Amino acid sequence: MPSYLHFTSMTLGDKSARSLSRIGIMGGTFDPIHFGHLRMAQELATVLDLAEVRFIPSATPPHRDQPITSARQRAEMVTLAIADNPVFKLDTRELEREGYSYTIDTLQSLHEELQGQARLYLLMGLDAFVGIASWHRWQELLQLTHIVVATRPGATLPAGNPILDEFLQTHQVSSLQQLHAQAQNGIYMHGITALDISATHIRHQLHTGQSPRYQLPQCVLAYIEQYSLYR
Ligand code: ATP
Repeated sequence: MPSYLHFTSMTLGDKSARSLSRIGIMGGTFDPIHFGHLRMAQELATVLDLAEVRFIPSATPPHRDQPITSARQRAEMVTLAIADNPVFKLDTRELEREGYSYTIDTLQSLHEELQGQARLYLLMGLDAFVGIASWHRWQELLQLTHIVVATRPGATLPAGNPILDEFLQTHQVSSLQQLHAQAQNGIYMHGITALDISATHIRHQLHTGQSPRYQLPQCVLAYIEQYSLYR
């Protein structure tokens, strides 16, 4: 078993677990980035008291259609969208790797970089969490990070899914205090402001000549218009 898998139990006692700085990991295709992403990151950063949130665009997502715009364009849109928020950072490590963008590889490389100086909080919407059992090496995710799941309009936990049920029964914690304090990583569900915004819908609007205004930052929309994206 690789040594990083022992990270949490080997290095974190209750006291150090609480005092380590906290980094949120926000993965996605961001094709394009919109207020659903930004508001989720903001609310979770506040409630979890995160020192930073890293936006990590996926280069080649394994479980969905490939992005329409290039990796460089999506990274530029994220840069524009987060420019005025000192807590939000762009992290391009998945864009620099060959092959599929597996979250487990990203978490492993973050662990190597951070050398035990921070705890990771993987942020995702409920729609993403529902599909987690199809992720590459998904059962190892909690060796490396907490998982924080935000509500999303239209997404619900499917009833009677034995894999998800067992994952939650074993690892879900009901309070943030417990999540931060315990040495083992856990799963925490948090209700956020419901914004029924999706990149799919924004792309559809652009493709059909409708305006997606007020669903994404104006600077991102200006970039999309400048380069005639999603037409
Ligand atoms: P697409 O429509 O192309 O699938 P998307 O809008 O779902 O894109 P992604 O980049 O795939 O955006 O999402 C990245 C992460 O942000 C996922 O964890 C997703 O669940 C979450 N997310 C996206 N939009 C929202 C939203 N409106 N509310 C809550 N979470 C969201």
